[in-house]
Amino acid sequence: MTNELKVYNPATGEEIASVAQHTKEQIEDAISRSHQAFKAWAKTSAHERANIIRKWFDLMIEHKERLAKIITKENGKPYQEALGEIVYAAGYIEWYAEEAKRIYGRTIPSHTTNKRLFVTKQPVGPVAAITPWNFPAAMITRKAAPALAAGCTFIVKPAEDTPLTAIELVKLGHEAGIPEDALQWVIGDGKEVGEIFTDSPLIRKITFTGSTPVGKHLIKNSASTVKHVSMELGGHAPLIVDKDANLELAVKQAMASKFRNAGQTCVCANRLIVHEDIHEAFAQVFSKEVEKLKVGNGFEEGTSIGPIINKRGFDKIVSQIQDAVDKGAKILVGGDTHFDDDKSYYFVQPTVLTHVDPSMNIMHEETFGPVAPITTFKTLDEAIELANDTPFGLAAYFFTENYRNGLYISENLDYGIIGWNDGGPSAVQAPFGGMKESGIGREGGIEGIEPYLETKYVSIGLDE
Ligand code: ADP
Repeated sequence: MTNELKVYNPATGEEIASVAQHTKEQIEDAISRSHQAFKAWAKTSAHERANIIRKWFDLMIEHKERLAKIITKENGKPYQEALGEIVYAAGYIEWYAEEAKRIYGRTIPSHTTNKRLFVTKQPVGPVAAITPWNFPAAMITRKAAPALAAGCTFIVKPAEDTPLTAIELVKLGHEAGIPEDALQWVIGDGKEVGEIFTDSPLIRKITFTGSTPVGKHLIKNSASTVKHVSMELGGHAPLIVDKDANLELAVKQAMASKFRNAGQTCVCANRLIVHEDIHEAFAQVFSKEVEKLKVGNGFEEGTSIGPIINKRGFDKIVSQIQDAVDKGAKILVGGDTHFDDDKSYYFVQPTVLTHVDPSMNIMHEETFGPVAPITTFKTLDEAIELANDTPFGLAAYFFTENYRNGLYISENLDYGIIGWNDGGPSAVQAPFGGMKESGIGREGGIEGIEPYLETKYVSIGLDE
């Protein structure tokens, strides 16, 4: 694992940077330094860690425009969206700077008079993170901030497509006062670096955001050293619109959920499941909004849909559309592509499909692109069954003004995140994560720091 990793702008195919990849020896050295640094960082006071981490937040906000430009360059998302990601990502740092001071233990009443029982929390140890390209900043901060706040040290291997944001974030962390060995980045091939991390007995926890097959592989490889694992994996979000929904609100929120980051997020609505009585009205209003979306370079004013990250992603989207059409789906809007294999840029026009059915790949594979298949239902139970009929369980959305139906749907959806009349439920103070094959553990909120803590029980015996 030597030489350079080239980074490209997915909107133009231009090379924007070249980053040295780390060798196996360098990564092992980074792990060993992380292990050494842990001894001191874990012993700092909660208030000291909180102040340093808070400074990191301040620096991120101070540099938000510069960081957002890096995201748009290497990831392609529209600049305003990139700016939104930086603020969101920084929010995790601010939240966990505060949470550092609230890592509480407890005392337990004793069953005898000559004992005192108490429980404390301590950091799990050096943490290794592997992150994806779709949120080059936020997927790092919501892991690094709670880890560091808990007293763990942290090494991140960012996605090959988007290493530049990660490097800048780590530099700002050092400027804020986080010791260099307590917060590090390494660059290399996912599989190779992943194995170095999982094989090392010094790494006590692996935290990963990415695809389900890679997550399973990391869980399996972590078994040999019994590491803690947190996995934020794939999704296949259903979005149910019941017949008594506020249609205008449902369309607005469905647009936000479906087309964020050109549909390339694990919580993007993947299957629009609409009551048959309002299906036509919904499809018409939704399609009108989709037609207004402007596809282009994220730096151009008014762009709402940027490029697809790479050819692999593009090919999957195109094949899902083709497969659906071959099996009888109708394209209501979009369906066009704009790409150049020589220059390596790929765009997909936002697309709405109707007449979809469960035989089509798009109805059971994760869709990572701006394609919205709409299907119908007659009864709520049918909608819920359709929604749950997937190995995934990350995010689900539904729209109804009827509170009884709303409670019924929310209680019966097997998903970790539910948006009721809300297409964007994610918030730094709330737990984010999936059920079933969408993952293990939660990020954000008070739940998000727990995976970086060990529980220690102390029983003290006194004289008889
Ligand atoms: P995507 O298909 O969206 O790129 P991946 O799960 O392949 O999702 O990638 C997410 C992250 O996982 C990236 O940082 C990538 O380098 C890393 N990765 C890919 N394959 C492996 C692997 N076998 N082991 C560990 N990490 C991997």
